[in-house]
Amino acid sequence: MLQQMTSHADVLKAYKQLLMEQIQRTTGLSQIHSWDAASPSGYTWQPQSYAQTRQLILKALAPLGTEYEQNFANLLDPANGRLEIGDGPNRVTEFTSVGYSHVPIGLYMKNYDGGFKSTLVLAHEGGHAIHEQLMSDHAAIPSYSLGPNFLFEAYAMFNELLMYDELQKQATTTPGKAYFTKQFLDKLSLEVFTSAQEGAFEQGLYDGVSRGKINTRQDIDSLYAGIMNQYDIYFANEPQRRSEWINKRLVFDDPLYNVNYLYAILVSCKLYNMQHADPKGFAIKYTALLSNGFDAPAEDLLKKYMGFGLDNDALLNGTLQIMKDKTEVLKGLYGQMK
Ligand SMILES: [Zn+2]
Repeated sequence: MLQQMTSHADVLKAYKQLLMEQIQRTTGLSQIHSWDAASPSGYTWQPQSYAQTRQLILKALAPLGTEYEQNFANLLDPANGRLEIGDGPNRVTEFTSVGYSHVPIGLYMKNYDGGFKSTLVLAHEGGHAIHEQLMSDHAAIPSYSLGPNFLFEAYAMFNELLMYDELQKQATTTPGKAYFTKQFLDKLSLEVFTSAQEGAFEQGLYDGVSRGKINTRQDIDSLYAGIMNQYDIYFANEPQRRSEWINKRLVFDDPLYNVNYLYAILVSCKLYNMQHADPKGFAIKYTALLSNGFDAPAEDLLKKYMGFGLDNDALLNGTLQIMKDKTEVLKGLYGQMK
């Protein structure tokens, strides 16, 4: 699968090319570098109050059905004391849901600042909590609440995709709509292609070392550059980035974990496509899937409740199609901003 990903790099490159042209147009620079990507886009996120965020999340996740939404509303309602925000002594520096089967699930956030990222983190981590709550309410045996990581992440990331859509819908200006469409595309680029790059890099490291081919930092730089040149339109002209693999924390902290996100986003995108194709029927099936817990292999459960299996090609094609479609949408929005 990782090797096959390079044959789809053109989807990523087309998106990055569009961004590059837009930056060129807005900044007037003749040559654009990868680090120019952070230049102003004409829209700035205004920090939101917790009350606004709460409303936004519930609106965005309404397509997941009444039971899901009500559970989320209950979690986010300060009167219920199920959400704690803030650091302090003897606290984990994390965002995590806490609880056990048949006890109300809580959510702990090390911080929340009303920023765009915080808002998405709350929708994502809250998603983990609601998934656990549904299993706690419905699954017969508590130990069935443990399952493969990539599926937990798929469900939580699906919430983020719905958030981008709702924000795009609510934006009142073209630059605002473009901003959220770009965020959606950045998310897919990261989870699909950066995960693929990292997966190939880690695999290359292990293979190279065991064959005695990787002995120096230069060897690792070369391995990394060889992979990046297949995906990144800027990389060949930016030799200073050859060592940027050093910043990839999970490569050191949690070896071979990064690639989980690739498989997770493929399932998220499948759910996203299904929800759009059948808004009414989707919520019932999805709630049943989440509530069931893990009393069978992941693929059996997906087939039973959602009618699809873990066919990499089909899932990847569906995901890339979303990327292509959103890139077209963004192109149209940039066209209006000229
Ligand atoms: Zn997560």
